[in-house]
Formats: sequence, structure tokens, C-alpha cells
Amino acid sequence: MSYKNQRVADVADLLKERLSSLDDKKQILRAVELKALFAELPNMPADERASFGKDINKLKQELENYINVSADSRVLVDQIDVTAPFDINSPVQMRPRLLSAEHGSSHPLMSELKKVVDIFGRMGFVHMDSRQIDDEYHMFDSLNFPSGHPARDDYDTFLTTDGFVAPAHVSVMQNRLQKKYAVNLNEGKPIAVVYTGRTFRNEDVDARHEHTFYQVEISYIDKDINTSNLVATFKTFLEEYYQQDLDIRIQPFYFPFTEPSFEMALSCPFCKKKGCHVCSQSGWIELLGCGMINPNVMKMGGIDTDNFTGFAGGLGLDRLVMMKYGIEDVRHFESGKLDFLRQFS
Ligand SMILES: [Zn+2]
Repeated sequence: MSYKNQRVADVADLLKERLSSLDDKKQILRAVELKALFAELPNMPADERASFGKDINKLKQELENYINVSADSRVLVDQIDVTAPFDINSPVQMRPRLLSAEHGSSHPLMSELKKVVDIFGRMGFVHMDSRQIDDEYHMFDSLNFPSGHPARDDYDTFLTTDGFVAPAHVSVMQNRLQKKYAVNLNEGKPIAVVYTGRTFRNEDVDARHEHTFYQVEISYIDKDINTSNLVATFKTFLEEYYQQDLDIRIQPFYFPFTEPSFEMALSCPFCKKKGCHVCSQSGWIELLGCGMINPNVMKMGGIDTDNFTGFAGGLGLDRLVMMKYGIEDVRHFESGKLDFLRQFS
């Protein structure tokens, strides 16, 4: 936009530049420079006044138009519903139908998670949700991973630029639940918690590996707790989940946060140890990592290790559900494929 009068043009440049830094754009209409231009009008020679006045009014109109456009766009932004599961600007007939019980169902991982939590709930475990972003202390230090220890390499996950961690296991909750429930022990009550949530690994994705998956873990701490309590608890859970009697087998393993540590296998619920494709013809399925909680971990959680011992163990929910329903590819879970999901509705 050009102005016949150079002084109006100079003020216009100045004010337009200032506009960008103003939160309240309307302030620009009260600018002293603009007022000064108007104040000059009455004292001007009549032949200059008309074109000068026209230019100032043009400038004022331009500024007002700019402010109105900004205000309009702000209103539009306010109206966007970021929770809408569709493009809010799409025509009504193109939007998906409103979800209801008839039009949707729980994701198979969520409905199985509910069953798992329910079984542990009936065994006296309270439920806690894990986190989807955490820090190095809860991911490693509080779980007895010494700084720089190679065991950390088994938990290759994602870091934010601020140094936060996408948890590679729900064990990040151990320190928190111990601190929260340590008071129970002094009142003669055990700590019994099942904690579940989304976990992340920097994996090469294939039919058996996903970067995002779910874990279920339990902790039980009380006086005189030993390995037989651990085995009995998981046996009870697995038999309830698969609705049949099962055999349990444990063999030594290594985790920094448990001592001793075990890998637990169950007799194949599908072939009763005869051998089938689910158990790779072995009759056994290795499903669980577990062990007696390392006293170092309990000390960091504020537990009196002279008087109390405990066990912890966890399993991958995706694997549990894949086995139960004969799902051949873990990637189906995060794929959002309706053909897959409808089989569980
Ligand atoms: Zn089998």
C-alpha cells in the first residue's frame, strides 16, 4: 500500500513493524505517532490537508483491518477441538459416526489387561499405572543398575533432548511403590502391588518385536517372604488366567534388581507338554522374569531390609495375549487395523 505523503508512509512502516510484537493489537490505534498525525491536520494548509487526511485515514483503516483479521483467526483457533478424533474442518457428512457401545470395543490388550489386573486384585494386589515418561533414577539407579554397567544396554530405549526416558520396563514404579507403601509394613500389612503400563524399546520391529508394548509386574514385600511364595503366586495367577492346572519351572537368570533372579516357564496350556507351534514343540513357554527383590533396591525404597523381604516379577502382556489368541504378529496391536480389532469386539 502506498501513501502520497512520505511522513504518513514512514509512520505506517513504523507501526506495522511494532504490531508484530504487540499482544493486544488494538493498542496500535492509540499510538502517539498516529495521534500526532491527526493532530497536525487542523493546522495544515487547506490544499495539503485533503490528501494528508486521506492518507492517515487509509493507514488507520489498514491497521483496523489487520486487527480484525487477527482477531478472527484467533476465534477460529479457539474453536478447534483437539480431542476430536477427526479433522474438525471436514464436512459433517465426512466425519465418523459418534462412538457408542455399538460402534466400538476395547482394544484386545486393554480387555486382557483388565482381566489380569482383576485376577491380581482378587489376590490382594492394589493396582498402579506406570508412566510413559520417566527419569534415569527410576529407570536404572533405583533398580541397582550401577552407572555405566553393561546391564543397562539390555534396556535400549528412547531419550528426550531434556534427558527424560521412555521407560523400557514398568519396574520404574518399584521405588515409588515402596516409598508409598512402606508405612503398611510397620502396621503389619504386606506391600502387594500390581503395576502395568506402556513400555518402549529401541527395537528393530518385526513379527516378534515392537518398539511399544505393555508390561505387567507385581511386587510383594512382607516378613519371611521367600521364593516359594513367588512361585505359588505366579502359578495361581497363570492357572486362573488360563483356567487350567499348569506346571511351573524356574531356572537361574540375571537381573540387577533381584537376587536371586529367575526365568519362569509354564507348561504349555495348549498342548499339555506334548509340543505344538505355540511352545515351539518344547512343551514349555518362558514367560516371566522374576526374583527376590535385591536388598539394595529395597533400601533405596525406604524398606527395613533386616525385617522384610519381597519378590517381584513381570511379563509382557502382548506376548500373553498373542499366545492366548494365536496372534502371529505383534505389530497388529499398534497397527490400528480394523479387520484385526473387529475379531475381538
Ligand atoms: Zn504347546
